[in-house]
Amino acid sequence: MTFGILALQGDVREHARSLHQLGCGTRPVRRREDLDGLKGLVLPGGESTTLSRLLVTAELFEPLAEAIAGGLPVMGTCAGMILLAARVVEDGEIVQFGAIDLLVRRNGYGAQASSFEGTVSLDGGSDLTRGGDDRQDEKMPAVFIRAPVIEEVGPGVEVVARLSDGQPVACRQKQALVASFHPELTTDLRFHRMFVALAEQS
Ligand code: GLN
Repeated sequence: MTFGILALQGDVREHARSLHQLGCGTRPVRRREDLDGLKGLVLPGGESTTLSRLLVTAELFEPLAEAIAGGLPVMGTCAGMILLAARVVEDGEIVQFGAIDLLVRRNGYGAQASSFEGTVSLDGGSDLTRGGDDRQDEKMPAVFIRAPVIEEVGPGVEVVARLSDGQPVACRQKQALVASFHPELTTDLRFHRMFVALAEQS
């Protein structure tokens, strides 16, 4: 099972390492041809404005949008989540795939708390978090780096992780799974495992 990782900017290697630890193959995606035969695609963190510009110059935006609209399972972390969200506050110049019905605010945790490490709870009601993981009740470490805030969750969207105050930080709608934090920067593989499970279901 090979997953693509958009490799224009951001922590590509860390996502690859997490997926390799789960027994999956990975391929960096830099051109349209790299999308062929993928089981799923990761949009890593970085800077959503820069990623947007690079997507357009690499002529990747349209093929990616088509693949995502066609049902390719996709995971977006941080800036990747911003690009996948249907609505963005403070959007600057960004492209949007509109794969998940969220309103997100770029850099929404504010200057002081813009980068922090915390723990998040997985939502026990989700079929993805229930998927046979016996550590479901254990909190998951999460690194937030100038992270976007999820301000509104649309009706078809499932929350899969929350901060202790109840704020949603990871969500899923159909084949799209997103997080405002960076699961690839910890050794906890549960978030990537959820994505692999989602791809296997599709
Ligand atoms: N603040 C960045 C943006 O707006 C996202 C940061 C990240 O991906 N770590 O795109």
